[in-house]
Amino acid sequence: MFLSIPKSLGLTPQREVVLKVIRASEGHLTANEVFAAAKEKLPTISFATVYNSLRYLKEAGHIGEIRFGNGASRYDALTERHDHALCTECGTLVDIEMELPQGLVEKAAEFSKFEPESIEFTLRGKCPKCSGAEYGAQLRAPRGYKAKQMARFAKKISRQGQNRER
Ligand SMILES: [Zn+2]
Ligand SMILES: [Zn+2]
Repeated sequence: MFLSIPKSLGLTPQREVVLKVIRASEGHLTANEVFAAAKEKLPTISFATVYNSLRYLKEAGHIGEIRFGNGASRYDALTERHDHALCTECGTLVDIEMELPQGLVEKAAEFSKFEPESIEFTLRGKCPKCSGAEYGAQLRAPRGYKAKQMARFAKKISRQGQNRER
């Protein structure tokens, strides 16, 4: 068996670098952050190329784009529907994977008289780093962790604990 990164996406080297940067980040980078990371891998890449690549990748469905009001767009490796928690202090954005209550979309649609296409939930508040008094505001925003992995891990731990008790 020969394993390699599939080239079947047919991306240009620039677009491929941009996609790799986003997939490796596990977080939600802004275009500027993607540019900085892409430049490390491909020093000749320009901001315009990064920006155009982001647009292309988004339209092709390889990445997601998140917008909050007037803030800079954040790019997401996770393209399936999911929710986010946003830190109001440092702007850290992490994924939340949970099922929304049944009937929520219908209720929102009924109330607004909108024809629903999608619904997203955003939890706003202080992230663990910002709510801890010992951390200064100078700290760099932590990278988003993988919520799904964390949940699976927590489940495993609690299951092990239950087994041991028996
Ligand atoms: Zn924070
Ligand atoms: Zn996300």
